[in-house]
Amino acid sequence: MFGTQRNGNGRVRAYLWHRAPLEWKLPNDPKEAKRILKELYFDWAPWMLKFIDIADEQAMYTRPLFFLPVGHRWEHKPGVTLIGDAAHLMSPFSGSGANLAMLDGLELGLVLADVVSKGLEGEAREAAIAEWEEKMLTRGEEVAVKTVKSLEACLHPGAPRTMIERFKEMVSQGKEGSRQVQQE
Ligand SMILES: Cc1cc2nc3c(=O)[nH]c(=O)nc-3n(C[C@H](O)[C@H](O)[C@H](O)COP(=O)(O)OP(=O)(O)OC[C@H]3O[C@@H](n4cnc5c(N)ncnc54)[C@H](O)[C@@H]3O)c2cc1C
Repeated sequence: MFGTQRNGNGRVRAYLWHRAPLEWKLPNDPKEAKRILKELYFDWAPWMLKFIDIADEQAMYTRPLFFLPVGHRWEHKPGVTLIGDAAHLMSPFSGSGANLAMLDGLELGLVLADVVSKGLEGEAREAAIAEWEEKMLTRGEEVAVKTVKSLEACLHPGAPRTMIERFKEMVSQGKEGSRQVQQE
């Protein structure tokens, strides 16, 4: 997959994703790195490969992509919890991780405020946090399922056709979701 993203200060960030063994790495020499990338993406449109030619040689990185298995859970531990990527690390293929992390932080803050205002301690406090953890993990799991589907569609030998089909599926699910919200 070859994706570009318009950033601030007139910069465009380009991502090149491919499946490889964990030890796969670009060489430190940027010219050699560009040569290897162009070899790997040799049959892509020439205008896209220009992104490799003009890439800032001080800003080219190899980044392995990790994600937790969908449905990852842990038993509640008194006095400690996890939020954001620490709780539900997923690939960025649904653009949701930062949003989930912020929502987790907001909700956990509200749960803790409630616990404090009600003077809950010990088991009652832990039960409130464990209940919220369950809600957070269920939400994370729902998004992680979508993320895996999108990743598979993007990094697929049939792409971009598989991506287009996936986007169509997401649009129709989005319409269905907003109909449900309107009904509620
Ligand atoms: C390529 C890419 C694109 C993405 N695009 C999107 C997007 O479009 N939309 C979206 O919502 N999400 C996106 N995400 C996901 C998003 O970046 C993460 O889900 C989000 O940053 C998670 O926030 P976090 O605070 O949980 O963890 P992090 O942002 O990872 O923050 C954890 C922090 O803890 C620090 N830390 C780690 N260990 C220690 C230690 N021992 N002591 C002290 N500090 C420590 C780290 O340095 C880091 O600053 C993308 C991710 C990637 C990789």
